[in-house]
Amino acid sequence: MDSFSILDAFDIAIAALLLFYIYRIMKESGTLKVFFGVLAFILVWVVTSVILDMKLIGTILDKFMSIGLLVIVILFQDQIKRFLVELGDHKHWSFLRKIFRHSKPTDGSLSARQHILPIVYACMNMSKTHTGALIVIQCDMPLDSYERSGDIIDAMINSRLIENIFFKNSPLHDGAMIIARDRIKSAGCILPVSHDRNVPRALGLRHRSALGISQATDAVAVVVSEETGHISIAHKGALTTRLTTSELERRLSQIIISE
Ligand code: ATP
Ligand code: MG
Repeated sequence: MDSFSILDAFDIAIAALLLFYIYRIMKESGTLKVFFGVLAFILVWVVTSVILDMKLIGTILDKFMSIGLLVIVILFQDQIKRFLVELGDHKHWSFLRKIFRHSKPTDGSLSARQHILPIVYACMNMSKTHTGALIVIQCDMPLDSYERSGDIIDAMINSRLIENIFFKNSPLHDGAMIIARDRIKSAGCILPVSHDRNVPRALGLRHRSALGISQATDAVAVVVSEETGHISIAHKGALTTRLTTSELERRLSQIIISE
């Protein structure tokens, strides 16, 4: 095999990997039909314009192709952001992240743990009292636009404050609480709702919006069900239900401290 064909094979492998990544992200976000739609459009364009060299239809489709990329970027900005975050998140780049990350004191993991415990404690109490709650914890991707959809709080993380906000008669109990940079940033926030068909029918909008934010960003979302008191967690497009409080603590520690 000469060097040209090796390069060709490498080229095809990268293109296949890219398509696979796009397929996976679109599947997780429930937009798989759009993926196949775009693929079908590109296929028609290649056949008519490139292979058969049909002038009229080729010119029309060429015009669509030139604005198509812009339209796709606008429509799928969340998915594209998540794709780039996943790419940058890969283990092999961790040495680069270490160089660019602000040097954290060695007790960084201790401080993260100190912030996880009040969240876990509040969830434990809210689970017992069947108080519905939705808490989003920011990882690397900023959640500013979601924070602005609710009321800004900017307070230290405190379990009683969390419980108070989700208390049924509190004006801020509806919607999601966002925690970022070790502070409760805002409450009553509106999250994107996931259209994933694999979500059990018994789960409603609270669980679907937890899944939605985990598909659009690298954040982790914790849900306490008002109906059942069950605790669930959504991260990287996967929803895990019926967690015990110790499992919740372990999952949060894994996600937040290792990120
Ligand atoms: P539960 O088990 O607690 O009943 P659920 O998954 O069945 O949860 P719903 O019963 O539909 O969900 O919960 C509705 C609540 O979910 C709303 O009152 C609101 O607080 C929250 N919610 C619904 N949609 C959104 C959204 N897009 N963003 C943030 N919060 C939302
Ligand atoms: Mg419900």
